[in-house]
Amino acid sequence: MASEYTIGVDLGGTSVKVGLTDFRGNIIHKECMPTFAEKGPDKVISQISACIRLVLDNNPVEVEGIGIGSPGAVIASKGTVDYPPNFPGWESIALGKIISESFSMPAYVENDANAAAIGELIFGAGKDLDSFIMITLGTGVGGGIIFERKIFHGTTGAAGELGHISVDYQGRKCKCGNYGCMEAYAGNNYLVEWVEEDLQKHINSLLFKWVHIENEVLTPKLIHEAAVKNDDFAIKVIIKLAQVLGYGISSIINASDIPNVVIGGGVAGFGEFLFKPLNETIIERVMKTHKSRVTLRPAVLKNEAGILGASALVLYQA
Ligand SMILES: [Zn+2]
Repeated sequence: MASEYTIGVDLGGTSVKVGLTDFRGNIIHKECMPTFAEKGPDKVISQISACIRLVLDNNPVEVEGIGIGSPGAVIASKGTVDYPPNFPGWESIALGKIISESFSMPAYVENDANAAAIGELIFGAGKDLDSFIMITLGTGVGGGIIFERKIFHGTTGAAGELGHISVDYQGRKCKCGNYGCMEAYAGNNYLVEWVEEDLQKHINSLLFKWVHIENEVLTPKLIHEAAVKNDDFAIKVIIKLAQVLGYGISSIINASDIPNVVIGGGVAGFGEFLFKPLNETIIERVMKTHKSRVTLRPAVLKNEAGILGASALVLYQA
C-alpha cells in the first residue's frame, strides 16, 4: 500500500463522526457533525461529505480509502444502504459509490455492527483469533460473526442479528416483533425499563435510594456504580443480565461452532460483575464439546469503536 492512512466514517442517527486513522488504529484527527437525518438522504450525504472534506483539508496526507459503518441493511459488495432506522425518506442508496466518486478513492460500506467486529479483528481483541462472535451492547444489541477472518454476511447481507435471538418465547416484547430477544433485556432502554420495574420490589436497595429519593436518572452506568458500592440488588441485576446473554450466546456457539466471544459497547463496562457470571452461564449451557474451548474477552476498541471499525474496513478489504 502506498499510504499509511484511512478515513473511518461512523454514521449514526444524530451525528456523523469521521476520523483519519493510521494503520495501527490510532486516530490522528477527528471531526463530528450533526447527521440531520430528518432532512432526508440528500442532506445526510452532504453532511457525510462535508465532514470527510473537513478532515482531509486539515490533513494533507495520502489516504488509502474510506470505510463507512452505517445502520440499516448494508450489502457490502455493492456498498448500498437500505432503510436505515431513524432515517426518514431513505430507501436504497449506493452510498459507497457516491462517496467513492466524490473523493476519487475506494469506499467500503458495512453494517455498523459488522464494522465493529471487523474493527476488533484488525485492531482489537480479535487480532489473534481466526473466528469469533462479537456482541455489542448499546441502545440495541448488535452482532457480528467472524469466520476464518471474514465477516459472515449470509445470503442477503443481513446475517449477524444476534441481539434478536430469543431466550424466552414468552419473554419481553422486542421492537422487532419477537418476544424474549436478548436485546429486549440488554438494550440500554429495555434494561432500564425492567430494572425500574424490579426496583419497586427492592425499596431498601441503594439503587432505589439514588433513583427515587435522590432523583438520579436510572442508567446502565448508575446500575454499575451501585454494584461497585456492593448494592445487592444492582449486583443481582447484572447477574440476571449476564444469564440472559449467556443463554443466547451459548446457542450461538452451539449453532456456529465458534467458541470465542468478544463483548463490546457501554454495558461491557460492567466488567467482572458481568463477565464472571456470563462466562459461567455460557460454559454451563454450551454443549459438552465446547465447554473447555469457550473464551470470553472484552472488546479493546472503546469510545472510538465506530470510527476504528469503519477505518478497519479499508484494511480488511485490501
Ligand atoms: Zn428482537
